[in-house]
Amino acid sequence: MAGTECDSCHAPIFWRRHIRTRIPTPINIGPDPAGNLKLVGEGEYAVVANQDREGFALAGGLLFKSHYATCPNAPTWHTGRKK
Ligand SMILES: [Zn+2]
Repeated sequence: MAGTECDSCHAPIFWRRHIRTRIPTPINIGPDPAGNLKLVGEGEYAVVANQDREGFALAGGLLFKSHYATCPNAPTWHTGRKK
């Protein structure tokens, strides 16, 4: 899955599927210490619980943030993603 960009704000993102729900989510490119997602498997991600984030980062794990959380236009495209 190659890097791409947000349709709305053109920030660089990539898509990953939630490890259980399989729902694709746009994720900001580049690790973010304030994020709560970790990349797992092939093209998947999982949520790191708040209480586990510090230990995960200390162990060298990279945290990422959902683009939903940072996209300035998220409210307009989160639900109806069509253009
Ligand atoms: Zn965006």
